[in-house]
Amino acid sequence: MESKSREEILKTIKNAGIVGGGGAGFPTHIKYNSRAETVIVNGAECEPLLRVDQQLMALKPEEIIEGLKIAMTVTGASKGVIALKGKYKDAIKALEAVLPGRKNISLHIMGNYYPAGDEQTLVYEVTGRIVPEGGIPLSVGTVVSNAVTLYNVFKASQGEPVTCRPLTVTGEVNNPVTLNVPVGTTIRDVLSYAGGVKIDNPVIIRGGPMMGTVTENLEEPVMKTDSGLIVLPYDHYLVKTKTRDIKVNLFHTKMCEMCTYCTMLCPRYLLGHNLQPHLMMRIIGYGIEKASIDDLCQAYLCCQCGICSMVACPVDLRPREVYAGIVMELRRKNITNPHKRKELTPRPLMKLRRTSAAGLVTRLELAGYDVKAPWKDMDIHPGKVIIPLKQHTGIACTPSVKVGDRVVKGQIIGNVPEGATGAYVHASISGHVVEISNSIIIDGE
Ligand code: SF4
Ligand code: SF4
Repeated sequence: MESKSREEILKTIKNAGIVGGGGAGFPTHIKYNSRAETVIVNGAECEPLLRVDQQLMALKPEEIIEGLKIAMTVTGASKGVIALKGKYKDAIKALEAVLPGRKNISLHIMGNYYPAGDEQTLVYEVTGRIVPEGGIPLSVGTVVSNAVTLYNVFKASQGEPVTCRPLTVTGEVNNPVTLNVPVGTTIRDVLSYAGGVKIDNPVIIRGGPMMGTVTENLEEPVMKTDSGLIVLPYDHYLVKTKTRDIKVNLFHTKMCEMCTYCTMLCPRYLLGHNLQPHLMMRIIGYGIEKASIDDLCQAYLCCQCGICSMVACPVDLRPREVYAGIVMELRRKNITNPHKRKELTPRPLMKLRRTSAAGLVTRLELAGYDVKAPWKDMDIHPGKVIIPLKQHTGIACTPSVKVGDRVVKGQIIGNVPEGATGAYVHASISGHVVEISNSIIIDGE
């Protein structure tokens, strides 16, 4: 890549279909088409039970550093920082072994708190700068990329597009494991590679326990943004809390005790943003129709970390879910965020008010599932893959193949119109296209 121009590198990243591996799925070639002072590798992996980034950094340190170097070249950054928790000892050891001689790249060791991987928390932790309200890390000269993303950038430099996704499969499975599976593999198939499910009527959390979503549909496919599949019984606390109806959550706002714990522990409030969930609960409790647009738009400052709902509230109320509902409604009405304060100061005792990730495991009733999920290199050949045309922020891809076509692994099968926000999708196995809707289904050879 060193001999390539900036434009050629961006094109290589675009052609590989790389999106943010942390969950949001923002197209990487668009994120990197910017100028920054620092690139931060987000290796915090702060969600309980997930074991992807920490093991990838331990197994592929050179590759991640090469990916980081490419990101620094393309953004013009003079500094690269790999941020990870002190408890990821194998990863620290592996990275330290390959760092000597790379003067502008360093490690930043973090405590075991949640959400250490929240981009804005991470930027403050590493640079001491606070991203303005409604802003992005680039507002303070920083680009943040997840460890998986940078590994994919390295692979793109070797001519390999994104066809696989590493993810942790844990919870009620026989062999908790971390696997690199072809994008589009069904959840049912992935669970079989973890030795199968131990319970009847399993419910799956896609992603981490705090921010992940719930599904019971085992035919859903793995996407580029998936970091974990956590299998839980249908009556587990997390399942019940994540599936509670928004109308119930709204009704419950009337029961708010105004204890302010939700605000006191909110990581965005602690950074100095004007996000005060306890006030929002009171306003909504009086009747959402009486709330001002300015008050409702506070919801845009929420990162959906879930601390208010799942850690802070002593009476089981759900500020996070109420904020999520408000954001959906504001977007539907095309109302944008007016809150853009820039001169921010962290709140007193910020560091002391952080949420311990160790305590979180108990709070979420996950202690029994907090086990190793070792990385296993397996040859995985699903008989069929279902590749969604939208696995990223932006618009869905347009199919570039038709039913009956033979495709080979790595071939582009979904295009993004010129100038639009999106990321190409590729065939993750070789085979024949058997169906096209909002996904492309390929039967393997
Ligand atoms: S989910 Fe709750 S704690 Fe997290 S940022 Fe939003 S309001 Fe704050
Ligand atoms: S923590 Fe719960 S009860 Fe306390 S102010 Fe927040 S929503 Fe209300």
